[in-house]
Amino acid sequence: MLSLKNVCKYYKYGKNKKVILDNINVSFNDTGMVFILGMSGSGKSTLLNIIAGNLRSDTGDVFIGKRKIDELSTSELDNYRNSVVGYIYQDYNLIEYMKVIDNIKIGYTFESDNEKTNLLLKQLDIYDKKDMKVSKLSGGEKQRVAIARALVNDPKIILADEPTGALDSENGIKIMEILKRISKNKLVIVVSHDKILADKYGDRIINLKDGKIINDSGKNVDTNEIDDKVVIKKGKFRRKNIWKLSISHLWLKKGRSLMTMISI
Ligand code: ADP
Ligand code: MG
Repeated sequence: MLSLKNVCKYYKYGKNKKVILDNINVSFNDTGMVFILGMSGSGKSTLLNIIAGNLRSDTGDVFIGKRKIDELSTSELDNYRNSVVGYIYQDYNLIEYMKVIDNIKIGYTFESDNEKTNLLLKQLDIYDKKDMKVSKLSGGEKQRVAIARALVNDPKIILADEPTGALDSENGIKIMEILKRISKNKLVIVVSHDKILADKYGDRIINLKDGKIINDSGKNVDTNEIDDKVVIKKGKFRRKNIWKLSISHLWLKKGRSLMTMISI
């Protein structure tokens, strides 16, 4: 379903061009846990962000089914980011002053609903924290909220960038077990520098060095066999949730907002 062909990424430093990703060719099965393993600076996060549609490659293409993500319309690309892939960050990327449940609702597309969210929170063992502010949670709990947010639109692919990097080993194992469970039905791509974790949980390990794939324990999928199962619908965020976020932000910064209004 997901494949990359001749993907290259460069950054310019003055007159010098540095190669960050060097001709990446890889394709993935629809399920399973794939580790992208490499030292710091090897290009792992860049690769994940290109797959997520957050960053464009300089040459080459990312295909979802038979479609190039660079050729999606703006609304299709939004929906690809929101509903086809779910992203999990090392530092959770949650809105700390908002409740757990509101952090999750912010990402709702039309298909998401409260019942599904409650079930997800129960499965991730954070249902009893749903009305608490994120700032009051432990690291492990925050990462489980971030996983719930990534799953709420039922994406086909989960992308996790060093998801246990900020956690102690006990919580790290808990998160890995959850991701492993998810990978029975979805493709889970985990970026990590931790070989022990990769050996323990990975169904496939791809080693990256200086932007090149130097080893791959798995097999690429024959991209001619791929049929277009992934439908990228036109979706919209729920306006009510965006309003709620804006108003709660305004309320939190009420002093500053008032000062700005007075000066204007
Ligand atoms: P990793 O996640 O494996 O640590 P990254 O993908 O974050 O590696 O970065 C790979 C290389 O690209 C690093 O040398 C980094 O400094 C460089 N890099 C990343 N983002 C940028 C950017 N926006 N501008 C310039 N160089 C960047
Ligand atoms: Mg990184």
